[in-house]
Amino acid sequence: MKIAEEIRDWIRSFIKEFKRTSGFLTEWKDPIVSFADVNDPLFFKLKEVIGKSHAHPKELLVNASTVIVYFIPFNDNIVVSNRGLNICSKEWARAYIETNKLITEINGFIAQKLKSRGFDAKPTPATHNFNEEELISDWSHKHVGYIAGLGDFGLHQMLITEKGCCGRLGSIITSARIEPTKRTEKKYCLYFYNKSCLKCVENCIYDALKIENFNKQKCYDICLENARIYSDLGLVDACGKCVSVVPCSFKNPVSS
Ligand code: SF4
Ligand code: SF4
Repeated sequence: MKIAEEIRDWIRSFIKEFKRTSGFLTEWKDPIVSFADVNDPLFFKLKEVIGKSHAHPKELLVNASTVIVYFIPFNDNIVVSNRGLNICSKEWARAYIETNKLITEINGFIAQKLKSRGFDAKPTPATHNFNEEELISDWSHKHVGYIAGLGDFGLHQMLITEKGCCGRLGSIITSARIEPTKRTEKKYCLYFYNKSCLKCVENCIYDALKIENFNKQKCYDICLENARIYSDLGLVDACGKCVSVVPCSFKNPVSS
């Protein structure tokens, strides 16, 4: 079996085992895993697009060859639970916390597996890897996911994959040379495809998301409000109203 298939297998089986043993309530669907070559020219553009503090993979692992990026979709009931209320649903809040923990565990496991094969590996944190004042990320899973061919950006600023956008992304940098996943030039967002959808903008009752702009600070303030409400669960700086039960929640709506 090729290393790419082995890594997909390791991640899938780890999630299954984690579901069985963790005692967590969140349920996940099968992940999508893809790979990017660290010499992809787009990695060099991230400092321009996101900010100077965004790391190049080689700044995190000097002999890096590949970035492994994966998307773990939430079960549909979690997404449905987050429709229509002002604050994020408890199920969504819990899924955010539990999936971040799952990602930390997956990354540790994959790093250990890769090391046992003689490769170096550097896991990246599931979240909270950004500057809280400027809200600039040091490592953006969604941009790295785009480079790795995992999907395309929607009007809501999230990455839409073939399994939608409701879930969490994780990534690991490794010295293993793995064939990169091909990026498609196709659009995944109906607005960018043919202007037939604005559902995410309609769902953002907080006016943070508009067609012309996204007010990052306003959005983060709402996320912090949810963090205050759900402080018993951990740091739930999340909202997800713009992605919950919209055409791109569970699939790439352009290809369907
Ligand atoms: S809800 Fe519609 S407009 Fe918004 S990102 Fe999804 S497909 Fe695009
Ligand atoms: S996460 Fe919430 S506040 Fe932020 S854009 Fe989406 S709906 Fe609006």
